Amino acid sequence: MTAKILDGKAIAAQQRQLVKTQVAALKRAPGLAVIRVGDNPASQVYVRHKRNACAEVGINSQAFELPANTSEDELLVLLEKLNNDNEIDGILVQLPLPDHIDSDLVLERILPKKDVDGFHPYNVGRLALRMPLLRSCTPKGVMTLLAHTDIDLTGLDAVIVGQSNIVGRPMALELLAARCTITVCHSRTRNLQEKIANADIVVAAVGKPNFVKGEWIKSGAIVIDVGINRLENGKLVGDVEFEAASERASWITPVPGGVGPMTVATLLENTLQAGQG
Ligand code: NDP
Repeated sequence: MTAKILDGKAIAAQQRQLVKTQVAALKRAPGLAVIRVGDNPASQVYVRHKRNACAEVGINSQAFELPANTSEDELLVLLEKLNNDNEIDGILVQLPLPDHIDSDLVLERILPKKDVDGFHPYNVGRLALRMPLLRSCTPKGVMTLLAHTDIDLTGLDAVIVGQSNIVGRPMALELLAARCTITVCHSRTRNLQEKIANADIVVAAVGKPNFVKGEWIKSGAIVIDVGINRLENGKLVGDVEFEAASERASWITPVPGGVGPMTVATLLENTLQAGQG
């Protein structure tokens, strides 16, 4: 079998177009505050992509680029101000934050209705209880990709490798809500290969290049590669051995051009949703 490509770049472009049309129909363009603390180079790139995408669809993004020595209190004061600002519908705090700032505390201070990253415990809890409001961007973007396969997910066995708060856990909740049977794996999981070999859907979110071997993939499985890893030669690769996995999977996401663009497009979708009130 040769896998069909789940083309995140193309699907994200369609999604942005849809958001643009809906934004144009609103009386007031949604406003997104994008906060970055310090000068992590990867964060600078991500924030730039997000702001460019906002401009493309007509969302007003406001950048708050704060120095690395910004105190936790100063950041909380800014969040309070933005929570009370009627022109701001969404607030995004780019992670990671410097070590002296408690990320969990900061994320919990964003008003849940402005939490367009979907990281607030309230929004994660809503998803857990099958009453989603704002949903985490990467897992929600993966669900949009899966919808493009036209495969009925009901009853499929899904293995998620990675249990982070921003990817693995909400991904598990999304797939459970879609009535998959889920297995969440992490660094202490035993017999990972065996679990992956039985999976109809594999979502890899580990952060280790080519960690999931192509030969582990069950014939006909859907493979979603969330990982973004830069090799020493500058090349970007995912967590899955792409070529070998493509020979066994029915569908696979490339890196780059798979999940990454969907995350940004879903952020726009969430900001539109927040702007619609
Ligand atoms: P984290 O480092 O927070 O989580 C990694 C997870 O992988 C942990 O749960 C860890 O387990 C698990 N893990 C590590 N080693 C193993 C192992 N040997 N076997 C099984 N599981 C293992 O990463 P994130 O979730 O934030 O990100 C994961 C990847 O996805 C990264 O490459 C990141 O860049 C990328 N990413 C991509 C996005 C996109 O838009 N495409 C968005 C967000 C992230 P344990 O908990 O036990 O330590």
